[in-house]
Amino acid sequence: MDRRRFITTLLATCLLPSTRALANPLTPFTLKEDDESASFVIELEGNNEHKVFTLDNPPRVVIDLPQVTRIAPSTAPKQHAGIVKDVRTGHRDGGIRIVLDLKTLKQPKTHIRQLDANRSQLIVSINDPDPLMAAVTAEAKSHNAPRKAIIEIDAGHGGKDPGCISADDHYEKYVAMGVADYLKERLDKDDRFEPSLTRDSDIFIPLHERVLMARNHHADLFMSIHADAAPSTSASGASVYILSQHGASSAMARWLAESQNSADRYASTRDSEIYSDDPDVQSVLIDLSMRGTDVASQKLAQTTLSNLGDVTHLHNDRINKAAFAVLKSPDIPSMLVETGFMSNRGDCQRLLRNAHQQQLAEALHQSVADFFEKNPLPA
Ligand SMILES: [Zn+2]
Repeated sequence: MDRRRFITTLLATCLLPSTRALANPLTPFTLKEDDESASFVIELEGNNEHKVFTLDNPPRVVIDLPQVTRIAPSTAPKQHAGIVKDVRTGHRDGGIRIVLDLKTLKQPKTHIRQLDANRSQLIVSINDPDPLMAAVTAEAKSHNAPRKAIIEIDAGHGGKDPGCISADDHYEKYVAMGVADYLKERLDKDDRFEPSLTRDSDIFIPLHERVLMARNHHADLFMSIHADAAPSTSASGASVYILSQHGASSAMARWLAESQNSADRYASTRDSEIYSDDPDVQSVLIDLSMRGTDVASQKLAQTTLSNLGDVTHLHNDRINKAAFAVLKSPDIPSMLVETGFMSNRGDCQRLLRNAHQQQLAEALHQSVADFFEKNPLPA
């Protein structure tokens, strides 16, 4: 029985080269480590060419992936509590190089595990007697123990994208962050859940990157928090949206989807280079497996609508459907919550209050709990 406690850190995501990027633009890699050993795993699509070797002074394991050419910025804090002191990534001979700085030099073992015809995992184990067994044991463990549901909380907009702006100049991005923070705080204290924020400060993140963050965190649920605006200042109340694959359910939904999706107009050229409009890239995000997720998203939205109704007026009491880019996760039940209207004076005043943001967070926490109570994670 392996009693070591592994610490998993999501380190970064890698972009595969252009020929493969169309099939799978983002590949997560993980590092599990303890005081004596470490296991580095990266998922590769197509060509899994690699070279792994050690260098001394300082002691390090070098992993060269000549077919992987681009790296997206790391989104998770680095927490190295084991034998790995640091992880560095960089470009090398047209590919990428990942360097694991070690406390003392240990010999790595590599193993390729074929996931399907096109995808494989490169497992680099350091000081582990049997890399395959270690990976298998870790996987078996994660299947046996009841695990926490990973909740990706997405505070809408941020940085150069303010979101909707009220008549008296209040920004949606701050309301969204406020509610998201309170929700994260509550879920952190609930041992059934492991929350993760797409942003925890006032920074700009392109929409597609938010979706990919949820994927890379292996989120079980994705919740995007917003406050909307309407051409009419009388429109008020909260609404809940899930993705429509067949167009928006109403004119209002269509209008909103257009305005929320336009957040990506703030993306720099570099961002849009990564998140190309290429339909092949999009099809990775909008996969057929969404059909199964659609039902789960409906259940989630229904519960949320009912819980929100306890703390705020509802704009309408049905689930809205719109083609929000941020909801296009292939395999994660996803929902976008409009907490109220920035364009409505009464709503906006309430939304700016901490006490109301806390109430909204409480309703969303309850909704997450209700959802997983009725739809437990597979054992
Ligand atoms: Zn918004």
